[in-house]
Amino acid sequence: MHHSSQHQECGACGSSALVGLFAAHDRNQRTTADSFSVARCTACGIVQTVPRPAESDLASLYPVQYFPATVDRISQHRFQQDKVLLVRKHRNTGALLDVGAGIGLFVQEARDAGYQAMGIEISGQAVATGLQHSDVPLVHGDFLTTDLPDAGFDVVTFWHVFEHLLHPYDVLKKVHRILRPQGILVIAVPNFASFQARLFRSRWYHLDLPRHLFHFSPSTLQATVERAGFSVQEIHYRWRDHDSAGILGSVMKLSPPGETLLHRAVRKIVGIPVARAAAEAELMITHSGGAFAIVATRA
Ligand SMILES: [Zn+2]
Repeated sequence: MHHSSQHQECGACGSSALVGLFAAHDRNQRTTADSFSVARCTACGIVQTVPRPAESDLASLYPVQYFPATVDRISQHRFQQDKVLLVRKHRNTGALLDVGAGIGLFVQEARDAGYQAMGIEISGQAVATGLQHSDVPLVHGDFLTTDLPDAGFDVVTFWHVFEHLLHPYDVLKKVHRILRPQGILVIAVPNFASFQARLFRSRWYHLDLPRHLFHFSPSTLQATVERAGFSVQEIHYRWRDHDSAGILGSVMKLSPPGETLLHRAVRKIVGIPVARAAAEAELMITHSGGAFAIVATRA
C-alpha cells in the first residue's frame, strides 16, 4: 500500500503539527499488516489516522464481509428505530438523505416513519444487496461528486460514516449547500473521548483502523460542524448497539469468520450480558459512552 504523503498534514485543518498518541493496526479485518499512528493535530485538536490511506487504496480496506449479505432484521429494527427517534425529535417530516446508507436499512426505517428518504452509498456491493432485499431508493456514488440539488433536503444523516471520509470538511460544506435553511444534520461517530477508548487504546474496537480516518470527540466534532456553518442542538449518548459492542469487540472478536461453538457460546452467554452491564455502568458514571451523535441545524 502506498500513502498519499510521507509528512502528512492534518486532514481537517491543513496544519502540519501532528503529535502521535499511540500505534495501532487493523485488528478487526486484517486487510493490511501496516502499522498506523493515531495522532492529534495541535492546531485543531482532531485525532486522526496517520498516514491516511490514499484514495485509490480505500476500497481494498473493506473486505467482502464488511457489508453483510443477510441481516438479523429483528435486532436491526431496534437499532434503526433508535436513529429514527433521534431525528424525529428535531424534524418529523420531509426529504431525508442518508449518506453512506450501506444496504439501506435506515432509509427503509425512515420511509416507514413517513420521511421521503433516500440513500447514497459508495459501495456497489452494498447497493446491489440493498436493492435485492427492498425497493428503497439507493444511489450508487460518491457524495462529493454526485450531483445533488441545492436546498433539496430537510435532513441529512451520517450513521457511523463520517469518520471514514477523507475530506470531512468538504463534505460538511456540501451538506450545507444541499440542506434547506434550518435543515437538520445528524452525525453519529465513535467517541474517542470515552472511558472505553481510553481504557483499550490501540485495542479499542471502534478505532477500526485504518478504515476510520478521524477519531472525533464531542468537542472536536462540535467545533468542526460549527466552523462549517451549523449550530449544534443536541449531543446524544446511549447507543445500545455501539456502546456495548465497543467493549465486547475490544475484549473478544464479535463474530469471526469460522467462529467455533465454544467462542460463540462464551460470546453470547458471558460476553454480551457482561458488555451490556459494563456499557451501562460507563453511561451512568461518565454520562458518556462508546458512541455519540451530534444534531445540528444549518444556519
Ligand atoms: Zn488540524
